[in-house]
Amino acid sequence: MTSTAKRVYISVDIEGITGVVGREQTGQTGKDYERARRAMTGDANAAIAGALAGGAELIVVNDGHGNMQNLILEELNPEAELVIGSPKPLTQMEGIGDGFDLAMFVGYHARMGSAGVLSHTISGNVVANIWVNGRVMGESGINATLAGHFGVPVGLVTGDQCVCAEARDVLGNVKTVAVKQAITRYSARCLNPTKSHGLIQAAAEAAVREASSFSALKVGNPVTFRIQFKDSGMTDSAGRVPGAVKVDPTTLEFTHEDPTVGFKALRSMIGLAAS
Ligand SMILES: [Zn+2]
Repeated sequence: MTSTAKRVYISVDIEGITGVVGREQTGQTGKDYERARRAMTGDANAAIAGALAGGAELIVVNDGHGNMQNLILEELNPEAELVIGSPKPLTQMEGIGDGFDLAMFVGYHARMGSAGVLSHTISGNVVANIWVNGRVMGESGINATLAGHFGVPVGLVTGDQCVCAEARDVLGNVKTVAVKQAITRYSARCLNPTKSHGLIQAAAEAAVREASSFSALKVGNPVTFRIQFKDSGMTDSAGRVPGAVKVDPTTLEFTHEDPTVGFKALRSMIGLAAS
């Protein structure tokens, strides 16, 4: 016997959206950006429609790409509320502590160093790798750690086949929808949105109905975020964050009981390294 999620949180990125493969789509000055943000809104709407069909009563969508002003509010299903803008304390997971039953990650991408479309971890210019308590993780795993801290399981991840495999590896029982098959980092064989939206909607509905079958990710306590930068100069800049410990010339660690504090330190280190 499973129980239904009433309160559903949907975090949306752009690199794993149906049809998105390149920087002309993901960057706000790109010539194909307007199409990509409409596609992002379309994949999000498919997840919202599924969640509603499954019985969700509150749906909050969080825009999680770039300056976090990509999703088009007036084209989003009116039953969902939208979190937009940046900065926000927990970035792609802002508001996850507000008593949700289930989280979904739509349009996500694989971690830096893996084969997925537009693969990166938080910042493609700065970050080589991130580990959480010794386990290498991409954004899906890091964000699932934050959700897990609040007891919220992740029931659905959508993107290319690489992020789907990555999510299943970290989370175990999770529904995944591959809206494209990565060929290289900048190419993929893509489903038509008519098809991908149907798959996302069906998976979101099933995830909401089966919410109690998913487990919140637990990584142990305290939580150590280890970050490897692309060069030692970035580590020198990032090492100014109080509590950061240098492991080697390109690697820092930050440990805290509360993963939201560790995550904010991680984001601070990345910001300093990029500046
Ligand atoms: Zn992104």
